[in-house]
Parts: sequence; structure tokens; C-alpha cells
Amino acid sequence: MLSPDDINTIEKSIMKHNAKVIALQVPEGLKTKVQAIAGQIEKPGVNVLIFADPCFGACDIPSIQMKSFGCDLIVHIGHSEMFKKQSLPIVYIEYFSDTDIAGILKKEINQLKNYKNIALATSIQHIKQIPKVSGLLKTHQKKVHIGKPTTAKYPGQILGCDPSAVISIQKKADCILYFGTGRFHALGIAKKTELPVFLLSLEDKKIHNLKKEQFTLQKKKIIRKAKFDDAKVICIVATTKPGQMNRHVVEIKNKIEKKGKRAFIAIMDVIKPENLLGMDYDIILNTACPRIEEDVVFKKPIINVEEI
Ligand code: SF4
Repeated sequence: MLSPDDINTIEKSIMKHNAKVIALQVPEGLKTKVQAIAGQIEKPGVNVLIFADPCFGACDIPSIQMKSFGCDLIVHIGHSEMFKKQSLPIVYIEYFSDTDIAGILKKEINQLKNYKNIALATSIQHIKQIPKVSGLLKTHQKKVHIGKPTTAKYPGQILGCDPSAVISIQKKADCILYFGTGRFHALGIAKKTELPVFLLSLEDKKIHNLKKEQFTLQKKKIIRKAKFDDAKVICIVATTKPGQMNRHVVEIKNKIEKKGKRAFIAIMDVIKPENLLGMDYDIILNTACPRIEEDVVFKKPIINVEEI
């Protein structure tokens, strides 16, 4: 549920934009609360439309679709601000977890015994716990490094497509500690660094060394690149989602074709295997969210555009 401060922020935005129809968007983890949240926002003269497609991140704003439905404002819950406005104004409402991370760290601190300089990172849901976790590490004689991200909002905050908060300070660190739910963000970091990466998992309440996964990721990366080099026909996929849209697809196609390969561009909203049925190609070149490469199983190999 939203706090009185959140409601206040939304009401101010409703007044500012004289909004009568609101598009409400929440991440999958908050779907069980979305009707209650809509009830908190609705009032006489203000209607809420729940945008129920999966929401992948702060970049995934359905402004074009919801404008067609007559919406005046998008209320996006669960991520920090990425855009002020797309086709519609957007108000981002951050959502924080109060899971006891320091308690898990106290129990598992031994996992970090060989490391003195620790780069710390987490996702938006746990960002408020950075001072507490950092303080606890310092009491164990660790030096903590927290970097500024390029796209994300807060120091130490990681997005799946933006691990810069730790990559920018990796030279100062002996290892990286990421705390949060799921492995996606930690693996995103592991892909981009040679440093040991540790995941403090809120699921099993343990700290995991991702050394094995890191090795597998590096190996997979080499294999993907070799498959791309061998491929004759490339399917370049791009999304219409405004925050993930790659406007250089034609340029990318021309560059690939100059190397003697054939390429075609397939545009869609959600990038999924069913949309490519019937098309003939050797490899998919993903120009949208980098997590698609890890999260979605396609029939043909897939490589992210920044890897080629
Ligand atoms: S592009 Fe992907 S990883 Fe980046 S913010 Fe969007 S959903 Fe998250």
C-alpha cells in the first residue's frame, strides 16, 4: 500500500496536470496489491486504469498505449525516476523493502573474510539499507566503496542495464557485494567485471560467491560471439517500449551488411520467441533490455548488441 507521502505526491501531480484518467503501473511483485493501490488513488472525478502487462523496469512506460485510452498521467510504482515525461507525464513512486539485511550479513560475514575493500550495491527496493549495511561492514574492519551510477538515481543503485555504480569504482575494491532478491542484478555485475562478486540473497538468507556463474558467463559470452561471427542471417530485434527503444537499428543493419552478412529488423513491444515464428535466421541480435538475453529462451542463439 502507498504511504500518505506517496498519496500526497500523486495528488500534487494529479492537480498539476489536471488529470482525470490515470494509468497505474506496478511491477509483477506488487500485482497482489494493485487493486488496493488503485483504490487509494481513485476519487470522484479521477479514474484509474491498471496497465496489466508485465512491467520490466523504470524504462518500461506504456505512454503511447495509455494516451490512446485517454489517460492524462502515468503513476509508475516500484522504480526510481528515469524520465520526467514520455507522451504523458509520469510520476514515479519508489517502493522500499524493510527486510533485515544487516541480520543476514552478521550471520554470513565470514564469507567475506578474505576481502578488505568492498564495493557495495543493491537495487532500488533496498537502497535505503546501504548506510546500515555499510556501517556493519565497517565494524568488521572493511573499507566500503559506493559508486555513482550513470542512469540509476542513487549511489550504489544497480539496474540490470546499468551496473556502473560498482564498475566505476572497481579499481578500489577487492570484491563486490550485492544484496537483494533474485540473481539477475548480481549476474549483470558479474558479466562486467573480473572481481569476485558476492550475492547476499534475501531468498535463502545466505551470501553466495558467484565465481562459478561468472566463469560460465564469460564462457557463454565467447561462444555467443563466435556464433555471431559464423552467422549468415541476423534477426535484429527492437522494441517499441520508449525507454528501451534503439533508434539506431537501421545503422546497425547497414554495418552488419557491410561485413557480408544479411540482416533484417523485427520490431515488437515485448520481445518473445512466438513473435519470431516463421522467420528464418541464424542468430538474434537484441537491441532492447539486456536481460532478455538471459531471461527468455529462444530457439536460436541470441546476443546483445553491445557484445558485438
Ligand atoms: S532496460 Fe531492462 S534492465 Fe534496464 S531498466 Fe529497463 S528493464 Fe531494467
